[in-house]
Amino acid sequence: MMKTFKIALIPGDGIGPEVVSEGVKVLKAIEKLDPSISFSFTEFPWGCEYYLKHGKMMADDGIEQLKEFDAIYLGAVGYPGVPDHISLWDLLLRIRKEFDQYVNLRPITLLNPTLTPLKDKTSKEIDFLVIRENSEGEYAGAGDWLFKRKAEEVVLQTGVFSRKGTERIIRYAYEEARRSNRTLTSISKANALNYSMVFWDEVFEEVGKEYPDVQTYSYLVDAASLYFVTEPERFEVVVTSNLFGDILTDIGAAITGGMGLAAGANINPERDYPSMFEPVHGSAPDISGKGIANPIAAIWSVSQMMDFFGEERWGEAILSTIKDILNEQESLTSDLGGSASTSQLGDRFVELLSAKT
Ligand code: ATP
Ligand code: MG
Repeated sequence: MMKTFKIALIPGDGIGPEVVSEGVKVLKAIEKLDPSISFSFTEFPWGCEYYLKHGKMMADDGIEQLKEFDAIYLGAVGYPGVPDHISLWDLLLRIRKEFDQYVNLRPITLLNPTLTPLKDKTSKEIDFLVIRENSEGEYAGAGDWLFKRKAEEVVLQTGVFSRKGTERIIRYAYEEARRSNRTLTSISKANALNYSMVFWDEVFEEVGKEYPDVQTYSYLVDAASLYFVTEPERFEVVVTSNLFGDILTDIGAAITGGMGLAAGANINPERDYPSMFEPVHGSAPDISGKGIANPIAAIWSVSQMMDFFGEERWGEAILSTIKDILNEQESLTSDLGGSASTSQLGDRFVELLSAKT
């Protein structure tokens, strides 16, 4: 039976469109190689250019328009001259919130040992999944300017940790650890954040009673940051809050090849709404328009999309093709020491993927 997946494309700004078109190339190749799968694509011209014309990052009924899709494939948003907090809150965070994409999945996997700055670490030793809370916590947007007068200025930014929000992300992580037969590490900071993180730790322990088969660990975020660099082999599945997850996953990117390779998925597990897949990097105005952006992060997020669609064999085929292409210096972009253009890398990728299947 033929399955059709409806994909909304939001290429966005800067290198966003450049890397998204390579991801779409890969999707179209899959469609050709697998008679049981087809995709439909609808492109939305939203982002900072749209903002400069219309005073908003996306159409007023944008959320309504996106609702009917199976997945959203996002490039990047951000533009010099548009404050980052506007481009972020008015598009990316809005979609995450409106569609209750409360799970952020960031694979921290070293696909080629030459990519890590860590001495003597192998691909076996850096291979874990960070599950970041994606809907509330420190990024709930709760705060205020208490006093505006300069000398007395006081601002407040608070974290919001609900029972529902905390339990569901932790439960998701336990399920994932159980499903994949891996250990689960919770990262928090209860010694200093004496309300939110005490609560987080309690929920972690409580939910854990339902998963006696899952081996667990609990680290303070400062210690965990150190272990990410010195002993990444400690981690298999990691669950953490919005802010800590944001920071830790950039350390994760640093130890596995940098921003050109970091992929992320924003998941609504109940599938009431579309989930969103994106390279983690920004619009990179310094290199945009030159055709030299590395599309591997964007392609890796297509692999996550395939897993989410239940087409895991394609998710795996994409990952294994990324491994293959990382062995071909001449096929890589300049951030990885090669001389290929963005689209040359994409073309070669499709060749390798096709040869494999
Ligand atoms: P934004 O303001 O949208 O976040 P940014 O310039 O901060 O954009 P980042 O993603 O944070 O972009 O990336 C920082 C730098 O890393 C970029 O300026 C660029 O030089 C490099 N970089 C990021 N992504 C890529 C990529 N896919 N390929 C090559 N270099 C990249
Ligand atoms: Mg940035």
